[in-house]
Amino acid sequence: QSQELSQVRIDYQAALQALVEDGTRMVCTGKMHTDRVCRFESLCYSTEAEEFVFFHSNSSIMLPSLGPRRFQPALLDMSSVDDHNTQYFNFIELPAAALKFMPKPVFVPDVSLIMNRFNPDNLMHVFHDDLIPIFFTIQQFPDLDFESRLFFMEGWNEGLHFELYKFMSNKLPLLKEQLKTLGRLICFTKSYVGLSKSTTWYQYGFVQPQGPKANILVSGNEIRHFVKFMMEKLNISTEENVAEPYIVLFSRSMNRLIVNEAELLLALAQEFQIKTISVSLEDHSFADIIRLISNATMLVSMHGAQLVTSLFLPKGAIVVELFPYAVNPEHYTPYKTLATLPGMELQYVAWQNTEEENTVIYPERPWEQGGIVHLDKVEQERIIKSKEVPRHLCCRNPEWLFRIYQDTKVNISSLIEVIKSTVKTKIGSRKQKWTQGLYPGKVRVSKCQASIQGETEAKLFVSWQIPWNLKFLKVRDVKYEVWIQEQGENSYMPYILSHQNYTFSENIKPFTTYLVWIRCIFNKTLLGPFADVLMCST
Ligand code: UDP
Repeated sequence: QSQELSQVRIDYQAALQALVEDGTRMVCTGKMHTDRVCRFESLCYSTEAEEFVFFHSNSSIMLPSLGPRRFQPALLDMSSVDDHNTQYFNFIELPAAALKFMPKPVFVPDVSLIMNRFNPDNLMHVFHDDLIPIFFTIQQFPDLDFESRLFFMEGWNEGLHFELYKFMSNKLPLLKEQLKTLGRLICFTKSYVGLSKSTTWYQYGFVQPQGPKANILVSGNEIRHFVKFMMEKLNISTEENVAEPYIVLFSRSMNRLIVNEAELLLALAQEFQIKTISVSLEDHSFADIIRLISNATMLVSMHGAQLVTSLFLPKGAIVVELFPYAVNPEHYTPYKTLATLPGMELQYVAWQNTEEENTVIYPERPWEQGGIVHLDKVEQERIIKSKEVPRHLCCRNPEWLFRIYQDTKVNISSLIEVIKSTVKTKIGSRKQKWTQGLYPGKVRVSKCQASIQGETEAKLFVSWQIPWNLKFLKVRDVKYEVWIQEQGENSYMPYILSHQNYTFSENIKPFTTYLVWIRCIFNKTLLGPFADVLMCST
């Protein structure tokens, strides 16, 4: 991988002239700063001012033209984390004529993706906030591909997992700090600023307590496309291995320890009659860990960023997440949400230590490792006595840090009990067939016929045809849901029917207009759209 920018030859004089004459051009997607990605031609960056610069000329375009709303609060988020005030992007404006008085620009010939990593030392953040969003931002814009140059502008050094970031492009990613070595005014010939947020599934609790994102858009299918790409980069065969099944225990070596880990390993092996392997980021290479996880039957780990590697588990595998004393598993669900994304096809089990005598506390540690001795005595006592951390905002809640950095002696029989009662399949038996869910189309050619039986009774014969896509599919169970609503009323009568016609007579009155809503349902859960409403008058 090359750090050199001059792989694509550019005619410096022509580039400079184009910049002076055409200025900067920007066109963005998205309605709000939180869903915006912008495409630029000739966006510049002053390494002295540490500001992006938009040069105005007669040919400049700035869409959206927000006026002062560009600062309320920003043009866009540079990381995939929503609306975080340390991640805002903006530029300052200058007339192109000012270039005469400025340092000679250095042009970046590669198409560039300019963004912020959110927390490059934490594996969950690396995958969720950066790698997966980079992968899909590259898919979204036709100018971007694996020849594009990544620029990480958050200002961190390479970080602990730079090797993983390097997979995202055939060119070496550049850090903010390195821009200074390139020149005083850097001009990106063609660039994109920002990241797609379509693939993120979790919000970390900056404005409301952490939890799954309100509107998750990603499914296991996309995650597994990313996984396939990463496995190729890590040189791991994606062939499913038919060797004997095994459990991986992913342990932490520094904090949040399992104090009876050896005992736990033995107990799991004995209970499920299956080999058990322990790994940690401290003792194994990332590729080795992923190679093991990608064929594991079960992954067991304390809550923590290392659990994001469950995205590499094969379909059907089991994720077992352990929580320390007083930490409610329902309140911290980044890995549960991942495991249960539709199409991930993982089974998820949470276990919590509920026995105070099995927890090891560290009140004397520094606050960021969960120490509490800096707090006043009353508060310390309250925390020590508390049986559950109340919901809280990120990131410095001392009670949360105190509890999440406890070590745990796992009560093995209670853990095995939870695993056995949650997991429905026989552990170690592979190859269950999962059927992918395709949704029905609208029912077609719906019709109704009314008949009146005396003064108070009437009947409604309604018929329809199958959705157009059904004839191409093998669907186990096809049902129709029909709602009969009297015009002007809010309530309706629902029916679930197996055939393509039905005569409704219950509560059908003469000389009344009914609205009939029909939709198809595949395999009990895949609800199709309603067809256009049918108006039926008796
Ligand atoms: N980490 C680790 N071993 C440890 C403690 C942490 O490998 O003993 C890793 C962890 O997986 C994460 C990073 O160090 O990638 C930061 O850990 P931290 O406890 O701050 O975050 P959390 O795991 O709670 O998200």
